[in-house]
Amino acid sequence: MSSIIQLLPDHVANQIAAGEVVQRPASVVKELLENAVDAQATEIKLLIKEAGKALVQVIDNGIGMSVTDARMCFERHATSKIRLAEDLFQLNTKGFRGEALASIAAIAYVELKTRQNNDQLGTQIVIEGSKIVSQQPTVTPQGTSIAVKNLFFNIPARRNFLKSDVVENKHIIDEFQRVVLAHPNIHFFLYVNGSEVYNLPAGNLRQRIVAVFSGKMNERILPLQEHTEVVGINGFIGKPEFAKKSRTEQFLFVNDRFIKSGYLHHAIMGGFEGLIREGLQPSYFIYLQIDPKHLDINIHPTKTEIKFDDEHTIYAILRSAVKHCLGQFKVAPALDFEK
Ligand code: ADP
Ligand code: MG
Repeated sequence: MSSIIQLLPDHVANQIAAGEVVQRPASVVKELLENAVDAQATEIKLLIKEAGKALVQVIDNGIGMSVTDARMCFERHATSKIRLAEDLFQLNTKGFRGEALASIAAIAYVELKTRQNNDQLGTQIVIEGSKIVSQQPTVTPQGTSIAVKNLFFNIPARRNFLKSDVVENKHIIDEFQRVVLAHPNIHFFLYVNGSEVYNLPAGNLRQRIVAVFSGKMNERILPLQEHTEVVGINGFIGKPEFAKKSRTEQFLFVNDRFIKSGYLHHAIMGGFEGLIREGLQPSYFIYLQIDPKHLDINIHPTKTEIKFDDEHTIYAILRSAVKHCLGQFKVAPALDFEK
């Protein structure tokens, strides 16, 4: 008898995990921005070249990393954010799986520069295909800069599968918008091929929405608020008369994390029932606060799909909150409105 099972080497395991975490440059954008938010940055810059195929870089002024952590962060399942399985039910960070940087470093060329507040010198590390190419002390501002180049260099099938720059840039802008709308209190910049596309000073949610989508938004949105034992609801919904054909202004967050939920979208649409013509889409920027005990965020590596204990109750409360808001502001039906 001969045994044939072997453990995969780390770099192979990382490359497999990368397939789930990193689908396209926009996935790198999401992971790096979320790490910067978790590092308590007050200012975050995103730099993109050639739709992220040449460069995705995030520079933050957060807490930075020690020399040891700068190496450790590229290990699989290496995280500072949870220690025990129980911690999964009281998360207050975006990350917790400890696999984003390991995955990205497995399939790209990555330059990390980082410095903690109390250190004179920071650390610079270059890693490519999971192998550390160099590590040395460096002079760098407090915080962290991670530059990801040559994404998918060792997975040609993935690289070839990438769409045109226009499409990939659109995915990047989508991810950027989701993060900046979840964190209006952080100053964000976006530079694409060297030009500034967004400069979003820290402010409140209304200011952030206007900064991202133009001044016209100010007149088009109504404040939404509801607080119950099960769920807190905050944010804004668009007046029905400004509903449009596309869903580009629909954002739902749970505990400051953007999520996709066909079910809760349906609840929101239910609140607009009778006020919007079939086929048109209202804008919404809705923030739910739910006790993490009643959530499971860990059902997919990208964490945009989550499970709720009390889905039906949340559905009902959300629907009626939207209805109530529209009633309170006495909006006129927009059934005959033509766009
Ligand atoms: P996770 O975010 O799930 O913990 P990551 O692979 O994204 O996993 O990051 C691994 C670890 O590296 C983080 O837990 C954190 O300690 C550290 N880290 C990553 N990015 C930053 C950053 N921008 N600033 C400070 N620390 C960081
Ligand atoms: Mg992370």
